[in-house]
Amino acid sequence: MDAPITTVEPEGKLAPAADRVVPINERLKPLYPDFEGLNYETPLQLLIAVILSAQCTDKRVNALTPALFARFNTAEAFAECDIKELERLVKPSGFYKNKAKNIKACCKELVARFGGTVPTQLDDLVSLAGVGRKTANVVLGHAFDKPGITVDTHCGRLARRLGLTRHKDPVKVELALCEIVPEPEWLLFSGRLIMHGRAVCRSRKPQCAKCAISDLCPKVGVKGLAAKRKRKKVNKLPVEPPA
Ligand code: SF4
Repeated sequence: MDAPITTVEPEGKLAPAADRVVPINERLKPLYPDFEGLNYETPLQLLIAVILSAQCTDKRVNALTPALFARFNTAEAFAECDIKELERLVKPSGFYKNKAKNIKACCKELVARFGGTVPTQLDDLVSLAGVGRKTANVVLGHAFDKPGITVDTHCGRLARRLGLTRHKDPVKVELALCEIVPEPEWLLFSGRLIMHGRAVCRSRKPQCAKCAISDLCPKVGVKGLAAKRKRKKVNKLPVEPPA
């Protein structure tokens, strides 16, 4: 059975997670003042840009969206577009066939069920093709000023390393963080964790020596995936028989 959704007591002498989360946020704030890098003018453009940003950098998405939005700028236009043309326009973002298929299907649903506008409720958003909870929270937070916690792989890893939760399931991580992060900071805090996860607390090689929140982190000095893989390889080396 899954553990209940609670914050965890940190190891050692660190304060409880609920007491560390505000100083962590304050420390990260000046480091990542502009974490949202996607360019958009309307909720629909943001929704499409976030779908395209899966497994892709914001920079690359921003490079292709001007041409995309010049060609298609309403849900109806995307819904009725030629899929091959859409694929060609979104190709630089990678996984372009899937992304084009999802964008078209999503916009068809927007037209059929929401009059061509982007809905403002989480449940409605996640019912659309290609829209998960993470995408929905980004859209709600940035386009509609509705706070939400965006949990991607970086945010989840940081939340666990920082001892803010033990959960691996993104929805449980989101709910655990909602319990301890002040609501007005939900979106910004998760964005900062994502940026810190990309820049410093990387999955393969966390840079604890350069980390601005190392004194607030119970996992300072943790080995990343790279070190674990290396250790595994060494363990697999054949052992020389005694002479
Ligand atoms: S101290 Fe290390 S493990 Fe903790 S947040 Fe910083 S980089 Fe990540």
